[in-house]
Amino acid sequence: MRHHVVILGGSYGGIAAMRHLGKYPELKITLIDQHPYHFLQTEGYELISSNTSFDETIVSLPALCANYGNVTFKHRTVKSINPQKKVILLPDGICTYDTLIIALGSVTKRFDCDTTVYHYSSGAKSLRGALRLNQFFQDELYKRLESAKQAKENFNIIIGGAGLSGVEIAAGMQYFFNRYYKSNTLSCAALHIHLIASRETILNGMHPHIIKIASNRLEKLRVKVHTQSRIASIDNHEVILTDGSTIPFDFMIFAGGTMTAPCLETFNAEKNEKGQIIVDDFLKSNTYADIYVIGDAAALSSKKGKALPPTAQTAIQSGEIAAKNIIRSLHDKTLKKANIRMKGIAIALGGKYAAIDLGFIHFHGYSAYLVKKVTERLYKWPLWWLASKGYTKINSCEI
Ligand SMILES: Cc1cc2nc3c(=O)[nH]c(=O)nc-3n(C[C@H](O)[C@H](O)[C@H](O)COP(=O)(O)OP(=O)(O)OC[C@H]3O[C@@H](n4cnc5c(N)ncnc54)[C@H](O)[C@@H]3O)c2cc1C
Repeated sequence: MRHHVVILGGSYGGIAAMRHLGKYPELKITLIDQHPYHFLQTEGYELISSNTSFDETIVSLPALCANYGNVTFKHRTVKSINPQKKVILLPDGICTYDTLIIALGSVTKRFDCDTTVYHYSSGAKSLRGALRLNQFFQDELYKRLESAKQAKENFNIIIGGAGLSGVEIAAGMQYFFNRYYKSNTLSCAALHIHLIASRETILNGMHPHIIKIASNRLEKLRVKVHTQSRIASIDNHEVILTDGSTIPFDFMIFAGGTMTAPCLETFNAEKNEKGQIIVDDFLKSNTYADIYVIGDAAALSSKKGKALPPTAQTAIQSGEIAAKNIIRSLHDKTLKKANIRMKGIAIALGGKYAAIDLGFIHFHGYSAYLVKKVTERLYKWPLWWLASKGYTKINSCEI
């Protein structure tokens, strides 16, 4: 019987693992995801600020998997994992495995608040969330276009969290408003984006030069940045900060943190304080030898033991390493230690403007924007090409 590898999660990490394992016909591979598409979160800011359509930010998983004779895609939501029995519980049954790769990523962490706030708030990690945000803003702009009287005089959007995603969304949205304001004389001057940073600066932990570039850009765009401000609670359309001050809001975007996928809550393994599963040097769960954990779901660290931030690039690298180690263990070879590196950070800052930190060099402006776009396309285009080939295969089989 062929060795059965099950991959949970078809995003950056899961796809990287699947593409490598798919080259080995002696393996049987099942990729399971709750969505039939891979959402390119790294391009989510473009979707939110209406610079792209949603089909530009997805890759079809059934079409992608159809390229590999040994890969089956299952469009299912994982309920739980039973590592003792080597079983995945799905809504309509079970799926057994010989080796498991957990690539379930992370979900937006919402502040503790009344569930009514959910009607006028969203995260940006899912396609649904990004579309909701975009539609909400488009509606508000439409109201202003139709009649300034219909629109609220002051319209506040609060972005809770000033890390990479919070900054990209704030800059993208504000640029979008400013553009409308200039070209359509809509009353967008009264639309305010408040970016709440709990630390002294935005982009905490990043290079001071990058922080300066991003801060200057946000100021130029007129984003209202509140540093050293922690959200204590959220009440009906009002954020209360720990210093007692309040900011009224119409829409709230949660960008302040993530937590692991809910189905992993009951997964009994060693985890860190963020709920990420602790892995060994080979990316295996510390608790179960036949389970690899990759991407945002894992507590990844560099070769020197420094914790790595959850990014698409670390997810991709970890997916490739886990896949290679599975092949090595099946061929009785010694496993290779993971050597995951941050190759650089690119931050979109509204319009055709970005900032790039490659460690040894920082640059910003249009050139950085071009580099960011090329990087995004170098990831997306090969997947699209594979998906279009797979789609042809699926269709020719159906005929
Ligand atoms: C707005 C934004 C901008 C970003 N920009 C960048 C950037 O510029 N550069 C960068 O490197 N990183 C960026 N990131 C971070 C990056 O997107 C994540 O680190 C990356 O997506 C992690 O990949 P992953 O494969 O581990 O998990 P995810 O991308 O989170 O994917 C997890 C997969 O598991 C599936 N899944 C979850 N639960 C279940 C379940 N119960 N059943 C079945 N399937 C399930 C999901 O549908 C999803 O397909 C950004 C993130 C955001 C939100």
